[in-house]
Amino acid sequence: RHALIGGGTGFIGKGLNKHLIKNGYDVTVISRMPGLKRITWLELERNGIPNGITAVVNLAGQNVLDPSRRWTDGFKQNVWTSRVNTSAALVKAIADAPQVKAFVNVSGVSHYKPDDKHIYTESDPVEGFDFMSKLCLEWEKAATLPGNVKHCRGVKIRTGVVIGRTGGMIQNIWLPFQLGLGGPLGSGKQILPWIHLYDLCQLVQSSIENDKIEGVMNGVAPEIVTNGQFSKAFASALRRPCLFAVPEFVVQALFGKDRSALLLSGAKVQPKRTLESGFKFKYPTAKEACLEVVQKN
Ligand code: NDP
Repeated sequence: RHALIGGGTGFIGKGLNKHLIKNGYDVTVISRMPGLKRITWLELERNGIPNGITAVVNLAGQNVLDPSRRWTDGFKQNVWTSRVNTSAALVKAIADAPQVKAFVNVSGVSHYKPDDKHIYTESDPVEGFDFMSKLCLEWEKAATLPGNVKHCRGVKIRTGVVIGRTGGMIQNIWLPFQLGLGGPLGSGKQILPWIHLYDLCQLVQSSIENDKIEGVMNGVAPEIVTNGQFSKAFASALRRPCLFAVPEFVVQALFGKDRSALLLSGAKVQPKRTLESGFKFKYPTAKEACLEVVQKN
């Protein structure tokens, strides 16, 4: 069993790399930088998928919430093409690689429009209403295998904020919370769709191995929480208070309108098909996820 991971050098990618190796896989990464056990996107385009690869995962994407990068047209274009073009390149290469049996694309949940009353499942229709939702739609479209590709199953995981010690949101909020200065973003009433890194890696592995998994799967934990509830769970896992909310205007000033939507709003999302596939979450609640993250001292 040999997996190829686009963006395998990132926060989730590194976690998945370790997880798959632990579970008996050989792993090769696609990166912009050449290296050991790596190929570049250019090599993929030129030479196709290396022999022996049986599963492909895409986790590539320019970090949207990089506070050091201004939300310019050029950066937005990078955010867009680093996702859409890499997924499209993989689909094209898979069409010519009959040894590949599963393609798992990991995108976000931004195409579920925040709505107080509605809990979304995978079968709800989705639409483009802002930059991130339009990106998610195009990204999934690019990750769709054409009908004539019969040798490979396509899985599209829509994931919430990934909770793990080594990167993503937790790494960004760790210091203020550790200092007792942490708190919710904005009102804290917005929903925060989330999943523990371990569960996401396990879901990717199941998607590779379980022939019955195909199409859209929500990669979010079953417990739906607000940003405020999550912040409390994290502060309490660290045994710190959760007092200082970051005002909405500060988040907007830092990230701009398009990006702050990712932090200041969120939809209620259920992992309906994921649970129906028999998948068991190891960290189904924010409390359990935060305790695990904090314990690894
Ligand atoms: P990281 O920023 O940690 O890693 C992303 C990887 O993408 C990098 O290792 C990099 O690989 C590659 N990359 C970055 N910019 C480009 C570019 N311009 N062109 C091609 N490749 C690029 O991200 P995460 O691991 O956190 O996230 C992975 C994916 O999952 C992303 O698409 C993200 O949108 C999505 N996601 C993440 C969530 C989270 O909470 N972390 C939540 C929801 C979705 P290299 O430098 O080696 O080329």
